[in-house]
Amino acid sequence: MKCDSGAIVVGAGIVGAACAEALARRGLSVRLLDARSGGATAAGMGHLVTLDDNDAELALTRDSIVRWRAWAPAMDEGCAFRGNGTLWLAASDEEWALAENKGARLAALGEAVDLLDARALAGVEPALRTGLLGALRLREDAIVYPPNVVRWLLRRHPGQISERHAEVVEIDGRGVTLAGGERLAADVVVLANGIEAATLCPELPIVPKKGHLAITDRYPGVLTHTVTELGYLGSVHNSEGPSLAFNAQPRPTGQLLIGTSRQFGSRDRDVDGGILARMLEHAAGFLPVLRELNIVRCWTGLRAASPDSLPLIGRHPDRDGLWLAVGHEGLGVTAAPTTAELLVGAIFGEPAVIDPQPYAPERFLGRSGAREGAEDA
Ligand SMILES: Cc1cc2nc3c(=O)[nH]c(=O)nc-3n(C[C@H](O)[C@H](O)[C@H](O)COP(=O)(O)OP(=O)(O)OC[C@H]3O[C@@H](n4cnc5c(N)ncnc54)[C@H](O)[C@@H]3O)c2cc1C
Repeated sequence: MKCDSGAIVVGAGIVGAACAEALARRGLSVRLLDARSGGATAAGMGHLVTLDDNDAELALTRDSIVRWRAWAPAMDEGCAFRGNGTLWLAASDEEWALAENKGARLAALGEAVDLLDARALAGVEPALRTGLLGALRLREDAIVYPPNVVRWLLRRHPGQISERHAEVVEIDGRGVTLAGGERLAADVVVLANGIEAATLCPELPIVPKKGHLAITDRYPGVLTHTVTELGYLGSVHNSEGPSLAFNAQPRPTGQLLIGTSRQFGSRDRDVDGGILARMLEHAAGFLPVLRELNIVRCWTGLRAASPDSLPLIGRHPDRDGLWLAVGHEGLGVTAAPTTAELLVGAIFGEPAVIDPQPYAPERFLGRSGAREGAEDA
């Protein structure tokens, strides 16, 4: 492709930063614009997790984790990458059967998984409650500190990515208009502004899913793996009332990051004391020592959800020159590397790294630009 005025990326969260890095790696100069309106990247858990609810989710997360592991040796300590794996906890016979099935499916694909019975689980994570039937361990899963990964990505190609604090108020395939009226032109325009995607492109079916998180004081050694309940899988795509799922992550600081909740459609960022209390009580049901630990901070974040919970990655079908990398819901940190390769590979006409069809914006946007499938949301 021929590029005279380079690229503009709107949104400097993990997805925008990964896209900017991938564009710069291919030689483009990139202007990265961010309104600093409080994105999900600074609010999430940074769990790099292989999920297999459907083939598209599995392909995206597996390919991404391979890319994260390739990045890891070059990352600085601030990125806080730890390849500590995930334990999916089985609390019932049904969940144990789920663990076995999931394990067999992933093992057949070559994933590094193992089943731990109750005794083996107690051996590796003695702080968990007794009575669990066991766990499925995914050894390749990891954790990072996403805001520092953003900074690391943007430093990788010195002089090629310029960052600017600016709010975009209009966008098309030839450029953007900033609040205040300034017009910036580009050959390639990438929209990666998370929950605000529909503010600039109202035809995009992106809605918020609010989540609560809490972090403890420093208690090194309570957990080594990220631990999460198999019941989590049922809550992830819930589109009705608030749902809770236990997820606890040992941070390199010795703190425990505890999640999480999902509230569909809520845009306010206030901590809801009732939901937070229920979330922590639910977590203590798996990790009883939590009742004795100090929680030092609680906050919320908004996941940007599409109707089928898969991101929109690719060319906007009706706005020539505009490319979309939005709608990553609760997996945007995990999926950022492959999102960037898919999107930027398509911009440059390269062969796709995985089948791009499940993420194609056309599944919601017809040729006319009419919004399709949004009523499911
Ligand atoms: C509670 C919670 C827990 C999560 N846990 C995990 C996890 O463990 N693992 C995982 O993979 N994912 C997780 N996620 C999801 C993940 O955080 C998001 O999918 C990801 O951060 C989205 O990144 P993004 O770059 O698309 O968007 P964002 O990080 O939201 O960035 C968008 C940026 O666009 C900017 N912007 C918005 N509008 C404009 C505008 N008009 N002009 C200029 N700039 C604009 C904003 O300022 C913002 O910086 C979690 C999310 C939440 C809320």
